[in-house]
Amino acid sequence: MTDDNPPIRRLADWDAETLLGLADEYDTPLYAIDLDRVRENCERLRAAFPDAEVRYAAKAHTGRAVLETVRDAGVDVECASAGEVMRALDAGFPGDRIQYTAVNPPARDLDYVVDRWREHPDLTVTAGATDTIDRLRERGFDGRLCVRVNPGVGAGHHEKVRTGANAKFGVPYDRAAETVESARADFDLVGIHAHAGSGISGDDLANHRELVRRMGDLARAVEPLEFVDVGGGFGVPYREDEPPLDLDAVAAATRNALGDVDATLAVEPGRYVVADAGVLLTRVNTVKEAGGATVVGVDAGMTTLLRPAMYDAYHAIRNVTDPNGPAIPVTVAGPICESADVLCEDRPLPRPARGHVLAVGNAGAYGYEMASTYNSRPRPAEVAIAGGTAELVRGRERLTDLTALETEHHRTEPTDENGTEP
Ligand SMILES: *Cc1c(COP(=O)(O)O)cnc(C)c1O
Repeated sequence: MTDDNPPIRRLADWDAETLLGLADEYDTPLYAIDLDRVRENCERLRAAFPDAEVRYAAKAHTGRAVLETVRDAGVDVECASAGEVMRALDAGFPGDRIQYTAVNPPARDLDYVVDRWREHPDLTVTAGATDTIDRLRERGFDGRLCVRVNPGVGAGHHEKVRTGANAKFGVPYDRAAETVESARADFDLVGIHAHAGSGISGDDLANHRELVRRMGDLARAVEPLEFVDVGGGFGVPYREDEPPLDLDAVAAATRNALGDVDATLAVEPGRYVVADAGVLLTRVNTVKEAGGATVVGVDAGMTTLLRPAMYDAYHAIRNVTDPNGPAIPVTVAGPICESADVLCEDRPLPRPARGHVLAVGNAGAYGYEMASTYNSRPRPAEVAIAGGTAELVRGRERLTDLTALETEHHRTEPTDENGTEP
């Protein structure tokens, strides 16, 4: 790969002045997503998989600016819900570049997507259960259908992200061929799909290869198909010393494992497209020495970035304000009343002080998307950077947004024994 499109952008590579300027101008906690880096990641993927269809798994980051950047970079989109289909259409993806993957879809999602399909008949629906196929048929859908298969192998950095062998996802492998064949009668059967999980690394390549091999076997058994989609899950190095994924090696292994199939290969990376394009900025508000540990309280927590609490995920953290202070081991903790609400524990960092800005790396994927309002904490703002210029793309939620949808509760007044109000 060329130097101007390195396989990973590290947290250390972000310009300190820019980050401090953003924290000052837009306040914290603040997500920043660099659209130029999103485009570079798309370009590397397309270069590594020149004959494949690359689909961005939008759930990693559904911001409109990101979706538009992905669209312009020639990458298609994979949507996990009606809301994501709506976002993809709003961002200007034509129907033939949208794939909707239905996982136990609520009726309202199917209704919405089938309605949109009537306007955009080229969109593809992926179903992972015969019930889902029946429910599509009941709604009059007879368009492009892909069958999600449970390949019986999973991969990923954490048990919670391994989907490939989880019975929740896809029709069982040994019934896949018959499901595909019987669906042909009522639908335009275009593909088969499987997704092993998230966070494929060099170590997990064997699982990925096995999944792809099984999908190749199935494809040969049910030909003709337009595409074989082997999912996403391309890992990114969260630790500073972890090497980046060798995308060309993954691509070569994928092609080899698929074997000779008369169908287009499709891949669905989410994390890989956006992870290193995003940082989270947070400000220190409390520093406490307690029991030999230094606890650094910041304004971002598990409601801002859930991955450390949910997956024990490691995210690089940098003291942007004072990078040269003496390094001391610190626990960086958020404002939520949960002990899981820590961004790191016992991590050496240049001594943080009140008012310092810390940056959290690789926050572009599953960062803002997993943000919540738990503890009645409004979700953060987000800026997008393009050509070195930042622009607010998601305003900071206000306290009043928290209650905006609440309706008045009509309380029945207590009555006494005679049924009269006291
Ligand atoms: C989440 C998901 C992906 C993307 O996973 P990443 O680890 O972000 O690459 C791809 N396909 C499906 C069906 C998914 O659910």
